[in-house]
Amino acid sequence: MTRLIFLGPPGAGKGTQAKMLSEDCGVPHISTGDILRAAVAEGSELGKKAENYMSAGELVPDELILDLIRERLHQPDAQAGWILDGFPRNVPQAEFLSKLLEQISQPVDFVINLDVADEVIVARLLNRGRQDDEESVIRNRLEVYRAQTEPLIEFYRSRQQLVSVDGSQTLETVRASLQQVISG
Ligand code: AMP
Repeated sequence: MTRLIFLGPPGAGKGTQAKMLSEDCGVPHISTGDILRAAVAEGSELGKKAENYMSAGELVPDELILDLIRERLHQPDAQAGWILDGFPRNVPQAEFLSKLLEQISQPVDFVINLDVADEVIVARLLNRGRQDDEESVIRNRLEVYRAQTEPLIEFYRSRQQLVSVDGSQTLETVRASLQQVISG
């Protein structure tokens, strides 16, 4: 049973590491960014509402995300564990998640903070070439991260759930550190 939350700035390697770890552990990788990008590609109501926020590097409003997460965590494949990537992104989302996990009796094992310096982040993101990876948007995403998501580090540290991993190392080294964390 693996239940993890991945925290870290955009470009820290959360998506890549969360995906590999989810395959290793046989639990779903739940990325709100992937879900939203699929909704945009599909042209669904959710996608239409989320699109402009995403291309500006802003968070989409909580009301679009909270129901989505509640429903996703109720799916059959999520009953044996999950890895959350990109959620929660602010304190209200983290409080919502804590209550939800209590209601469904699914305590989180660890919150993993992938720690990476700013210069490394900007270089990595410029290399990645995703649609919202233009430099001005990257800078805004970093600002949004600092203002809204970074406070979650303290939120989870004070609950003794936080584990920090150096995300500036190579992909394989980070992967090994993560495996060590989850195998206790
Ligand atoms: P990500 O792939 O996690 O970097 O997410 C890409 C974009 O999707 C973000 O810049 C936000 O616009 C949006 N997004 C993803 N997850 C969330 C979330 N939990 N809350 C609000 N917006 C989100």
